[in-house]
Amino acid sequence: MSASCEVYAPSDLKTALHLKSRYRDDLHVVAGGTLSVRLMSANAIETKNLMLLERLPLSFIRVSGRNVQIGAMTRLIDLIDNRLPKALVLAARSVRGLSIKSMATVGGNVFSPSPGCDVATALMALDAHLTLQSMNRKRSVPLEKFYRGPLKYSIRSNELVAMITVRNPPQYSTFTKLTPLPNSGPTIASVAIALDVNKREIVRRASVAVGGITTHPYRAKYVERFMLNKKLSNITLDQVEQGLVPKGLTIIKDANASSEYRERMVPVLFMRALNSLVKEVSRR
Ligand SMILES: Cc1cc2nc3c(=O)[nH]c(=O)nc-3n(C[C@H](O)[C@H](O)[C@H](O)COP(=O)(O)OP(=O)(O)OC[C@H]3O[C@@H](n4cnc5c(N)ncnc54)[C@H](O)[C@@H]3O)c2cc1C
Repeated sequence: MSASCEVYAPSDLKTALHLKSRYRDDLHVVAGGTLSVRLMSANAIETKNLMLLERLPLSFIRVSGRNVQIGAMTRLIDLIDNRLPKALVLAARSVRGLSIKSMATVGGNVFSPSPGCDVATALMALDAHLTLQSMNRKRSVPLEKFYRGPLKYSIRSNELVAMITVRNPPQYSTFTKLTPLPNSGPTIASVAIALDVNKREIVRRASVAVGGITTHPYRAKYVERFMLNKKLSNITLDQVEQGLVPKGLTIIKDANASSEYRERMVPVLFMRALNSLVKEVSRR
């Protein structure tokens, strides 16, 4: 961080967007701070202007019918709410430790690179859209299209993420991750599945997101297409395995797991998630 730094903490969105429009890339935005403060401490962010979002009225969860709107400043701990799709609740619950869950925001999580993007992985399987707002314009971008490469996002320098919307989510969803710690811990790999089935358990809608292995989550489109019109309990690993991790993907490694291990765990997690959905559907 620069030696002298102007800090802004607006309490209304209009002022925040005005500042963003004025300073553009010269204004660093801090939401919960769990990632950005670490980057600033490591001098990885050089900025003369900081904007803290904590006072903005962007912490809310609105459920109306089957639609969900989540303010960008909603803390991950608040997503542990059983009005929300199960995949989202499980992803939030899996985030390491109470302090990170209580500080980190859902808006910040969509910017957080792997392995710290569990909530974004669940949101991607739920086909979430981001509302990106600037002073003069509001636009909606599917989360899947938000990622444009390592640490590259479809957001303009005068925009903020204001809200995340999940419209008419599939009836069934789940999230599963592998972590070296029991209950909640750092992610080695994760899989979220969301689907609708008819009375005969034939898949009518499916989306599968994989997280924790590349810089950001991605959708396993081949697997989604394969699942359509199949009986859920008839889907086997050998039918989908090759579509879960596309060839040529650069897979991350860290102190918790090698790239090879991460890649090998994705099919295991997919089957765990699928089996839990098969059980849930058969119980209805
Ligand atoms: C010890 C530790 C353990 C963790 N464990 C997990 C885990 O198990 N699972 C997991 O998923 N994650 C994990 N994380 C990552 C954590 O979830 C992310 O760091 C967090 O979600 C980021 O949110 P934040 O609100 O703190 O964002 P910040 O750090 O404040 O911001 C992150 C980035 O997003 C940008 N940004 C934030 N909000 C907006 C907005 N509304 N509009 C525009 N830009 C914005 C900021 O400018 C910054 O570039 C862990 C982190 C730590 C430090």
